This record gives sequence, C-alpha cells and structure tokens, in this order.
Amino acid sequence: MDKPRVAFFDFSSCEGCQLQIANLEEAVVEVVKLIDIVAFREVMKEHSDDYDIAFVEGSITRPMDVERLKKIRENAEILIALGACAHLGGVQRLSNQWTSEENKQEVYGDYVSDPDDIADTNPFFEKPRHRALDEVVEVDYVIPGCPIDKGEFAKVLIAILQGKKPPIPDYPVCVECKKKENVCMFEIGKFCMGPLARAGCDARCPSAGNECEACRGYVSHPHSNAQSDVLEKYGLTADAIMQRKTMFTYRYEEAGKGGD
Ligand code: SF4
Ligand code: SF4
Ligand code: SF4
Repeated sequence: MDKPRVAFFDFSSCEGCQLQIANLEEAVVEVVKLIDIVAFREVMKEHSDDYDIAFVEGSITRPMDVERLKKIRENAEILIALGACAHLGGVQRLSNQWTSEENKQEVYGDYVSDPDDIADTNPFFEKPRHRALDEVVEVDYVIPGCPIDKGEFAKVLIAILQGKKPPIPDYPVCVECKKKENVCMFEIGKFCMGPLARAGCDARCPSAGNECEACRGYVSHPHSNAQSDVLEKYGLTADAIMQRKTMFTYRYEEAGKGGD
C-alpha cells in the first residue's frame, strides 16, 4: 500500500504546534518512514495539493480563511485540528468580545483613523472573528493543547494509519495531577480548571506550580465527568469553574455550553 500523503497548513496561530512536530527530531525519521509529507511550509519549500491527510493549525478568522479551509477539506480524506487555536479558537478568540473596530483601535490606536492607512483597507483585517475549524467544516479528529504534545501527535498519527480512533483522554487533568501527588492549587489559594480540563498533558501546569487554563478544552461532559471529589472538597461546582474566564475557554462561553 502507498504511504499516505500528508499536508500541514496554518491559519491564525503562532505556529508553535507545527514547531512541535518539526522538533520531533530522531522520531521524525520514524514518522517520515510511515508517510509522505507533501506540504509543510515551516520545514520545506515543496508543496502539493494532492494529499490524503491534512493537519490544520490555527483559528479561522476572515472570509478568505473560510474559502481556503473549505478547499483543504475537499482535498483531504481526513482532516485533523492541530492545537488549541484550531480546536477552540485559541487565545485570540478572546478578541471576539469586542467589535473589529474596537480591536483595531486597541492595537493600532489613531493609526486606523486615516482612511488611507493599510489597517483600514487591507483585506487581512476584514471581519476578523475567530472560530475553531469545526465551526466551519467537518473535523475528523483533534489533537488538543497549546502547544500540542509531540508524543501525542505521533500516537494520533499512528492510530489513524492503523484505522483506529486516536487515543485522546476524556477525563480531567485532576486525575493525572493526583497521580503525581501535586499539592492542589486550591490548597494554596490559587484557582485551577483541572476538574473540567481534558487530561493528556500529564498535568503539566499544576506540576510546575501553575494553574491549569484548560488549553486542551473541557472533558466531553463536564457536569457529570468533572473531578467530583475535588469540586466537593473545595465547595465548587462545574458551573462555578466555567464562570471563571480563562485564556482558552471563551469558545464555551460564546456557545453557552460546556464540553466538546
Ligand atoms: S495552540 Fe498554542 S502553540 Fe499551537 S499554534 Fe495556537 S497559540 Fe501556538
Ligand atoms: S484542581 Fe488543579 S491542582 Fe487541584 S488536583 Fe485538580 S488539576 Fe491538580
Ligand atoms: S495543565 Fe491545563 S493548561 Fe496546562 S497543559 Fe494541561 S490542560 Fe493545558
């Protein structure tokens, strides 16, 4: 059987998730043995629009992005959202709380008041509202996180090549955090999204003394699957945690719901 042809694309993002893949180092040799990479702007000049699997990083922002993403979807048999920008709309989605004009004014100040200025006329500024990929096209799989975990990328790719469902956990970060015997952030007066956040990162942030911001999104059913003993111990509810605004969870607020 021919090797699957794989392409990587990016929209509004910092390209950090693609960088994780570029940094697979020795493992990249093994990965490249399994697939033919036909487009990956961050690491190669060659480009082909003939591919089977598309990994797409970044949020969808402008009408031109919608058209480009739809073409990628048409070409790809399997489309995978790569990282929090593609999965949730990313940190940049917080800007959806304000109008385009307010955002431009905040970033460029008086620069935008001159009608000849590029910020007023450049199509790259047209209607910038951030959305996740699955709000525009059908997405087959998601590799969550900001950035993605390169080991998880390799596991997902191998599962897809074997025709299996990728092994993305659907239980809260608290489970991994407790296994590591970390002191709970709530014990030291901090806040943490761990009871609702999707695990798979090995509780990276609380293990380093930082609050979890749910960069991997919520578990599928946060009201029923949340880490109930943590919630109970600290007198919390899933709703109380959801009301706390974080960098990555504005998607859920906009949708007025929890979970994927
Ligand atoms: S998810 Fe994070 S690391 Fe990945 S592209 Fe978006 S901002 Fe960058
Ligand atoms: S709430 Fe946060 S710090 Fe506490 S156990 Fe859960 S993940 Fe760990
Ligand atoms: S601990 Fe939370 S914010 Fe940190 S990497 Fe894991 S899911 Fe993301």
